[in-house]
This record gives sequence, C-alpha cells and structure tokens, in this order.
Amino acid sequence: MPRVSVSTLSNQFYCEMQVHLARTHSLRTESVELAAGAAGHAAFEAEAEEISPEEITRAITAGEPLELVEMPLSAELHGVRLVGRADRIHLEGRRARLVLEFKFSGRRELFPSHVVQVEAYGRMLEANSFNTERLLHCVAVLPRGRKVTDGLAADIAARALAAAGEGLSAIDNRAPTGQPDPLAGLTFRRVDDEAFGLWVFRHHRARAERDLAWALQYWSGQRAPEGTVSRGKCKACPFNAANLCDAAKAPPDGRYAVKRTEGRYGVLHVVQPSVAKR
Ligand code: SF4
Repeated sequence: MPRVSVSTLSNQFYCEMQVHLARTHSLRTESVELAAGAAGHAAFEAEAEEISPEEITRAITAGEPLELVEMPLSAELHGVRLVGRADRIHLEGRRARLVLEFKFSGRRELFPSHVVQVEAYGRMLEANSFNTERLLHCVAVLPRGRKVTDGLAADIAARALAAAGEGLSAIDNRAPTGQPDPLAGLTFRRVDDEAFGLWVFRHHRARAERDLAWALQYWSGQRAPEGTVSRGKCKACPFNAANLCDAAKAPPDGRYAVKRTEGRYGVLHVVQPSVAKR
C-alpha cells in the first residue's frame, strides 16, 4: 500500500508535479521559509511535556481534556496509508475539538495546502474513531524569525475557540471537477494580532473527503500528476531552475543557484534566490 505523509499530500495543492518530481529526482532545496518553519516548530515542541501512550489512552477513556503536541496519526484512506503529526490537537475524551497548525511565513495568508493539511488530520481522527462533529480547524501564521514565548500556542488556541464562539456559518458543498479548490466556499473567521494571523473554520467531512480523494488518486495510480497553471509558481520553482519539469508554464527565476554534486548518486542542490549569493 502506498504510504504518504500529510505534508506531502498538502503540497499537491501547491503543485502536484513538484511532489511527483521530488519522488523521481534527488534534489535538495534551501529556502528561508523551510529554515524558519523548522526552527519555529522546534520551539513549540520544546514547551510540551512528554506523555506516554498509556497516559494518553487513560485520559481519552476517562473523557479528560488533552492538548497534544506533535500527535502521530495514521489512517488508511482510499487504499493509501496516510501518516502525519499534527502540531497541536485538543481532545475531550473521544471528542476532537481543535486541530491547530502553525506556519512561519512572511506572507500572512491562508493557502489551499494549509486547509488540506488540517482537513487531513480531521479525517484521520475520524478514521481513528474520534467524534469530529464539533471539530474546529485553526491555521496560525507567524512571521519568520518570530521569537516564540511560553504559552503562545495556548493563547492562539484560546483565541481560535473564542473566534469560533462568535459564529461560523455553513459552507459550500459543491462537487468539484478536476482539482478541487479547498478555499472555494470556505467560511472562516480571521483574527489578526500583532504577533500572528489566525484562520478558524469547521471540519466538514464532505469537503475533506473531496480534497483527499482527489489527492489520493495520484498515489493509487488512478491518474498522472497535474502541474500548476500558475506562471508565478513555475518561475519560483526549484525543479524548473534545475530544468526537470516539462510542464513548466514560465521560465525559472534566473537568480537560482543550481549545482550538481559529484559521485555515484548525483544530487542536484538548488538554493532559492533569497538565500543565494548574488
Ligand atoms: S515548473 Fe511549474 S508545473 Fe513544473 S513542477 Fe514547478 S511549479 Fe510545478
């Protein structure tokens, strides 16, 4: 059975061809976004206390509230094993209340890949017999390099729950043709703080199912990978800079640094413009 991580699956909503080329070529990329994300997540994890699987099971059985950081999840969906670690999940016994994902970016914006990532965790919680009827999703975007203070994650979770308490209306169930747009018809509440931006929305099984079914068709071999139609994405694409994509819609940014390492398994190393030496 194919095994796919949630982050890889969500990247299909940026450009599926990039995901495909990453499987078929050895290419390493360096970017400010990747480095900021790794540092920010490490800081959030450092705040958490370790808890054993037995303690988690006991608390869930007792119906106690739990706030879990980096909770591993796994589920078989459409013939594919989906695996991932949610940044933060709030449970009350077997009721899933909140899925929270942190993004570290210079752009305070909600992207389709963000929505699919939390939808996937919601769907995996369902597959693991958690009740998701009142599940909320929250995507928190923090600026790159932001110093993470104690309790910031808890503050963000509280703000998300309060925002949802002010009301979220129904969402659109239109069936898609081709690649679905996870943002189309999504009703959310946005909170802007000096330190972060938040998007809060409800888990909706039909929407999650629609988005995941499309993405998993690629992994189960039902269709070929689709390239983005965005010229801007192709211009900024490291696979395009390395001349690996036949589906590119625009030439690559000429400032990319590309070098090929020597050896039996030659690896292409692509440095994105923001960190490339000019
Ligand atoms: S060049 Fe464009 S279509 Fe090809 S992988 Fe990159 S972003 Fe996708």
